[in-house]
Amino acid sequence: MQKDPVCGMLVDENEAAGQRAYQGKAYYFCSPDCLDKFIKAPERFVTPQAPLQQTPPGEH
Ligand SMILES: [Zn+2]
Repeated sequence: MQKDPVCGMLVDENEAAGQRAYQGKAYYFCSPDCLDKFIKAPERFVTPQAPLQQTPPGEH
């Protein structure tokens, strides 16, 4: 099972309504609607892999 990044639903790879590769990773979608949204703005649905660097306050 894969998570549809648009709506968060779990999608079976074999029954996905759509598939899209983005930044070397495959994403699966429950409906053509979700796929369409992803194609238009994938960066909205994919969280960056690198964790946010937290700088402690007062440190330079
Ligand atoms: Zn969906």
